[in-house]
Amino acid sequence: MGVEVHKELLSSIGLDVEKHAKMMSMGLEAYKNQFMSQDNRPEGMKYFDWFMSEIQGERIAEINKLRAEKKPAVGTFCIFVPEEIVVGAGGACYGLCGGSPATIADAETELPRNICPLIKSAHGFKLQRTCAYTQSSDFIYGETTCEAKKKTWEILDKHHPVHVMNIPHMKREKDLKSWKEEIVEFKEHIEEVTGKKLSLEEMKEGTRIVNEKRKALLRLDALRGMNPDVVPISGKDALFVTQMGFLDDPERYTQKVNELCDELEKRVEEKISVFEKDTPRLMVLGTPFAPPNWKLHTAVETTGGAIINEESCIGHRYYKDNVELENVEDEDALMENLMKRYSQIDCACFTPNTPRIDKILQMYKDRKADGVIYYTLSFCHTYNVESHLVTEALEKEGIPCLVIESDYSPEDAGQIKTRVEAFLESLTFKKKAAAFKSK
Ligand code: SF4
Ligand code: SF4
Repeated sequence: MGVEVHKELLSSIGLDVEKHAKMMSMGLEAYKNQFMSQDNRPEGMKYFDWFMSEIQGERIAEINKLRAEKKPAVGTFCIFVPEEIVVGAGGACYGLCGGSPATIADAETELPRNICPLIKSAHGFKLQRTCAYTQSSDFIYGETTCEAKKKTWEILDKHHPVHVMNIPHMKREKDLKSWKEEIVEFKEHIEEVTGKKLSLEEMKEGTRIVNEKRKALLRLDALRGMNPDVVPISGKDALFVTQMGFLDDPERYTQKVNELCDELEKRVEEKISVFEKDTPRLMVLGTPFAPPNWKLHTAVETTGGAIINEESCIGHRYYKDNVELENVEDEDALMENLMKRYSQIDCACFTPNTPRIDKILQMYKDRKADGVIYYTLSFCHTYNVESHLVTEALEKEGIPCLVIESDYSPEDAGQIKTRVEAFLESLTFKKKAAAFKSK
């Protein structure tokens, strides 16, 4: 089917249909080349291949069907959004496009050149009207996590309704109290959009659905990263599956991720690995990988390394915690538990943020990784500055680390590959030396 079949709908939501079709065909070509050419992919990836082909077609039709039933559609840029509330209202909550270089030149007509590419890419999609998710949103939900985002919302609001949540930058008691109030306000805004009060049961059901989604992703994370001898799925495929969790219908998605995990479990038992024995196992830390940003994963996995985990928002930071539902008997208790879960997110926007460092060290040990790549988007001051503290802690523990700062342009792909290659060589040498020493 794809976008062609839904041309009328796409045009009705104000999309630039011609430009969009061209972008989609380039995106699908890139997906075919980078993903479908991999050997020995799990069968369960077929669903995600199908989803990619319908990413801006069938899924957009589903979202607009919900809107026609007065259900909310909320576009987001951050994992602080309490999606449980939107799902509880029967609506769709999704991450907006922000990983493509194709929209950046347009964004730079309104935004400065020297801010993070994620923000510029997303803003450019709105200016170009080439993202069907943005066009389908009742409102875009922004937050005050970093300076660049916070000010961009004021400009984006001229083109599309933006609702902003104040995320505190510290986690003191008074900050957490105001955070809870923000979640309550968000819920009230959803009620305004739908014209209907949300019941406790609806919100609990939304929370249960999202908890299940995060549980499935945690299962995938363990299967790909916790077995030192077998990597049953490529890091690139696992990243793609995680990225789609921000767009797909959560119940269908959870079912498909669990089906994939059943298959991966068998692969682990039968020792079916997509990488050769002794391939260096890398963890990636840092800023999120919004689709179609697959540059780093492609560079690593075509150079002889395996990515076994992303400690990022499109990754472990998103699914590591769930909302406690036991003994929730009134709305206040649910709001409190939502706040507790969301405030465990260890984004670099917080100060201090030491739990993130402790977590990274633990993750490295649990996964028996061989090294880490600290990845930051250019001009992301928050993660760039925090990288100093993280790399210092890694160094103390003798953990090899490569720091990569990049944007979405293809220009530095060759340079990244060369640096990754040298890093992997040093890891292989270290491994061989350790094996020799232990003889
Ligand atoms: S890195 Fe921080 S600001 Fe960015 S998506 Fe994650 S939680 Fe939100
Ligand atoms: S990557 Fe950094 S600069 Fe970009 S939106 Fe996230 S926190 Fe802000």
